[in-house]
Amino acid sequence: MKFRLLAVLLLYLFSAGYAMSQTNFTVGSATAAPGQKAFGAIEIPAGADAATSIPVAVFHGAKPGPVLALVSGLHGTEYASIIALEKLIQTLDPAQISGTVIILPLVNIPSFEQKVPHVNPLDGKSMNRFYPGNPEGSQTDRVSWAITKQVVERCDYLIDYHGGDLDENLRPYAYWPKSGNAKQDAITRDMVLAFGLDHIIIWSDRPKDPNASRYLDNTANTRGKPAIAVEAGHSGTVEPADVQLLVNGSLNVMRYLKMLPGTFAPLEHPVWIGKVDTVESEQPGIFYPLVQRGTYVEQGMKIGYVTDFFGRTVFAAKAPSAGVVLYICAVPSMKKGDTIANIGEVTTNP
Ligand SMILES: [Zn+2]
Repeated sequence: MKFRLLAVLLLYLFSAGYAMSQTNFTVGSATAAPGQKAFGAIEIPAGADAATSIPVAVFHGAKPGPVLALVSGLHGTEYASIIALEKLIQTLDPAQISGTVIILPLVNIPSFEQKVPHVNPLDGKSMNRFYPGNPEGSQTDRVSWAITKQVVERCDYLIDYHGGDLDENLRPYAYWPKSGNAKQDAITRDMVLAFGLDHIIIWSDRPKDPNASRYLDNTANTRGKPAIAVEAGHSGTVEPADVQLLVNGSLNVMRYLKMLPGTFAPLEHPVWIGKVDTVESEQPGIFYPLVQRGTYVEQGMKIGYVTDFFGRTVFAAKAPSAGVVLYICAVPSMKKGDTIANIGEVTTNP
């Protein structure tokens, strides 16, 4: 009996999980001992353009468990998502965590500092379109490459945080990315239901090639690591309700992954979106919305219009389908081809 007990104890001590929890965990310059947190940076050396430094926080749990990566601010003016991860950094306690949480609260620093939406103003590239990145490319490519190597390849699960940008009046929603791998898709489905944003876009037509994964969450999914993307916040605001949705959702996914103690209630009846229709302006001018984010519209309903600079209507924007206004342009600035709104077509429970 005693021998068996000893054998079990030895097995436990030498199991991979135990060994991992007893080892420091390092990302960039942040090294955390078990039960500790550490703050630091992933340094991106200068190439054809300037160097940058991406802040990183590592919460290395006292107990073994998976590695979860949380990344925000690929778009540096989607503020609610950035502030949500700041809040999470202030509240997480590594003593309570089983496993390790890597948090990148703000990737696109030039966008944040210069208040430029959608792109990294240094090279004009969206920082969520060039994954897995390129160590020889411009700053966006080099940052994407570093995140692929130092965060995605190190984690078991990932959440990418977004929200309405400066010009996007957005209602909260999540993406359920379908990879085609049934086991992985069951996990990501559980993750979006645990996260709790009650409108969920089913995203099936994603690149399958890990070397051309394009999006951050897709970079994880194409490498066999379940990942989701979530969006809350709108038009440059930091509303407490939006921030709270993202903080609570993160904690619930950690409970689902058994990285935190406690229970959570997964969504039972979310609104599933099967298709997203983009309404673009056929004319430049001044945009006037006629509906709010979250409004349910019928096919053909007028959702906004564009005038010339003398107030004469030059374009009427109509809903191409019945559905929910996921977001609508929040500002008067309008160029030909700009997005006026995204309409989500509701589908049945997949
Ligand atoms: Zn975004």
